[in-house]
Amino acid sequence: MFNSLATSWFRLIGQPCFKVYGKARRENEWRVVEVYATSRRDGDSRWPAPLFRGTCITWTASVVAVGWDFAAMVLREQALSPASRDRPVEVVGGRFRDWRRRLAAAGSEQVSTSEVLAHECGHTWQARRLGFAYLPVGALFTLFREGSHWWNHFENQASEEGQFGGIVNNSVCSELIEKLGSDQRDVFIS
Ligand SMILES: [Zn+2]
Repeated sequence: MFNSLATSWFRLIGQPCFKVYGKARRENEWRVVEVYATSRRDGDSRWPAPLFRGTCITWTASVVAVGWDFAAMVLREQALSPASRDRPVEVVGGRFRDWRRRLAAAGSEQVSTSEVLAHECGHTWQARRLGFAYLPVGALFTLFREGSHWWNHFENQASEEGQFGGIVNNSVCSELIEKLGSDQRDVFIS
């Protein structure tokens, strides 16, 4: 109930910049998650970090908010190597901040924006389970990030569980397409 009300509110204030398939590893069915871009979350925003500037946040089971610059980076990455529901992107080694785990998983130390989106998809699953309780929990624990303490569990779990199964066909908004280079534009206009 809370999730559907909150999601309707997001639809009132705007249009998603694109939609993605997302789920947790333990979920069987892919869900459609709407990604909203706002300049408050751009890397050069004057709004305070870490809740706004340069960060992504999952608001409900089907709404993630990101910066326009982040959204454009996701599309550039996806144009080069698209994720799909058969080959979803996951956080390498289930961690952003543990380079040993990342290298052991044959991944790179460098974090991609598609991995960050996979992590957010992990939060959408938490939001789905927790409903209204997700919001205060999410805002609080996101600040603690990953780590080995009990209060890091929430972030660790999102990194371990999240799967990003690609961008939904024809869901990229025109405003974002305009921000892309002409070589990438063709990929997302079909
Ligand atoms: Zn997180």
